[in-house]
Amino acid sequence: MYASFCLLGHPLGHSLSPFLHRRLMALAAVDGDYTLQDIDPGVFSEDAVRLLKTVNGCNVTIPYKQAIVPLLDRLEGKAALYQTVNTVAVTADGTVGYNTDAEGFLQALRRADIPLQGRVRLLGAGGAATVFACEAALNGCEVTIHKPRNLRAAEVLCARVRDVAPHAVCRIATEDDDEAIDLLLNATPVGMHPHTEDCPADDRLLTRCAAVFDAIYNPRTTRLLERAAASGAKTAGGMAMLVCQAAAAQTLWHGVTFRADDIDTLIEDAYREMEVSFA
Ligand code: NAP
Repeated sequence: MYASFCLLGHPLGHSLSPFLHRRLMALAAVDGDYTLQDIDPGVFSEDAVRLLKTVNGCNVTIPYKQAIVPLLDRLEGKAALYQTVNTVAVTADGTVGYNTDAEGFLQALRRADIPLQGRVRLLGAGGAATVFACEAALNGCEVTIHKPRNLRAAEVLCARVRDVAPHAVCRIATEDDDEAIDLLLNATPVGMHPHTEDCPADDRLLTRCAAVFDAIYNPRTTRLLERAAASGAKTAGGMAMLVCQAAAAQTLWHGVTFRADDIDTLIEDAYREMEVSFA
């Protein structure tokens, strides 16, 4: 049976999702397609409901990860915990929302052999930061949001972390300090193409970090990762997270799993595809 999937978002511009999902569907021997559906915010609810009647599933990206929630019949797992959906399965029992970003994040760290433990420092307090902070707290980490640009958003995020993991430590550092950091997580767009000279952390912070994960996948080596590696930290970029969250969505839709070496190949190919399509 031919299966139809799409990505809902706005604006979508150059998205790697069709490339990734078509490759994953080929690996899983699923006959189908994956398209981009750029929906104007003014008509999101009507268009999303209409689209969900025509597809087998979809992914959801900025700015609709929360807006989709009331349109769905139910949420499962991390989507219910975070009230944020990036994957929808259209089933005989209705529309079900999932969140595979958390799975993608955890797998990306595992693949880079970076443990999620100890003192975690977070840059940013938006969507990706929420997933990172909650997953770190659920793993028993002490989470510190580092010098947030928006203090109120950081306070809301800390409250969210304590809801999800009531015994977790989540605090905000408004000034520089000298604490040793096990893992620094960048969940801001600072350093993303085309602003590749920008770096969200200074050397004073980076020299105290044992490991650094950057959610950004374009460029492959951000200025943050370059400087962190130069100061001796273990580093990982965001492409593995992007690929692993897509693979986790395919698993939900089709019940398929992927071999680790196929995922490794796809991560490398996705970097190449990105260099071509964003050139
Ligand atoms: P978001 O919800 O818009 O959050 C961005 C956060 O970064 C906000 O806290 C924002 O603060 C902060 N920020 C923005 N510009 C800043 C600056 N110049 N200096 C300091 N802080 C700044 O976005 P998101 O969805 O979390 O995405 C964040 C990054 O992660 C993006 O680069 C995105 O591409 C990447 N990402 C990657 C993956 C993956 O699979 N690899 C998945 C999700 C996201 P304000 O509130 O003050 O604006």
